[in-house]
Amino acid sequence: MTTAYLTHPDALRHQTPPGHPEQVARIEAISEALSAPEFASLLRIDAPLAQQAQLLLCHPEAYIDRIRKAIPAAGIYQLDADTHVSNGSFDAASRAVGGACHAIDLVMAGTARNAFVAMRPPGHHAETQTPMGFCLFGTVAIAARHAMERHGLTRVAVVDFDVHHGNGTQDLLWSEARSFFVSSHQMPLWPGSGRPEERGAHGNVLNVPLAPGTDGAGFRQIYEDAVLPQLDRFAPELVIVSAGFDAHRDDPLAQLSLVEQDFAWVTGALCDIAARHASGRLVSCLEGGYDLSALAASVAAHISVLMEKGA
Ligand SMILES: [Zn+2]
Repeated sequence: MTTAYLTHPDALRHQTPPGHPEQVARIEAISEALSAPEFASLLRIDAPLAQQAQLLLCHPEAYIDRIRKAIPAAGIYQLDADTHVSNGSFDAASRAVGGACHAIDLVMAGTARNAFVAMRPPGHHAETQTPMGFCLFGTVAIAARHAMERHGLTRVAVVDFDVHHGNGTQDLLWSEARSFFVSSHQMPLWPGSGRPEERGAHGNVLNVPLAPGTDGAGFRQIYEDAVLPQLDRFAPELVIVSAGFDAHRDDPLAQLSLVEQDFAWVTGALCDIAARHASGRLVSCLEGGYDLSALAASVAAHISVLMEKGA
């Protein structure tokens, strides 16, 4: 089998103001890194637009309409202090969701063992009725619900190693007993949520705060002690990853000290969970990562392990 790679040129049509860290160049840096010969065997697929029914899995229709109506004909419109939309933003965010759902279909059908979705804007801060932190739609939460509703899964793990707490995913899956959501994140750090006491309505949320300065050894230890055993106990039928690479030591938005090899390590550990319980089925979606060269190198390391484990 193989690793699928889903993206679309619409990822470049979501414009943010000059100097904004969540920029078009992120996708360009990733595309450049993945043009190397070692990635030639990726199954490259255009990310489709989301169906309205997919967006409705996690957001009310009035919210979807509100985002659609906020899209300007030209220029950039500001939704909050950090979150902006331009003319191409709805399509870009829609394809992030559509790509994630299509990736679920591919791994469920056995067309690919695992998949990476390289779209922007990211999604894990978008709450039920609130765009937030660069995010419009809750991509991975929608993908998890899609796996449940379309494919009948009852145990879906969502693991978020972005340096920021996945508050949106937590909000969207808080009462969803068919999911187990794990977020590791720097604390203190924006958005401020993600304390261990936040456990979900059914004990289905695990928050793992990391102190500023945590390095790869500390990160691996916490995953080995706290995260991986609980994932094994949950025995997921599918693993979805919120893959943010802003815990890298070169990232400008946080103070953790991971390097590419640490992202490769956690990728391998999550693939091994998927192999033990889910026939290897894993779908990873790009979230943060704002130092362009660290992002490109980290995504390349992440996908190299997906390819090795998915072969
Ligand atoms: Zn982040």
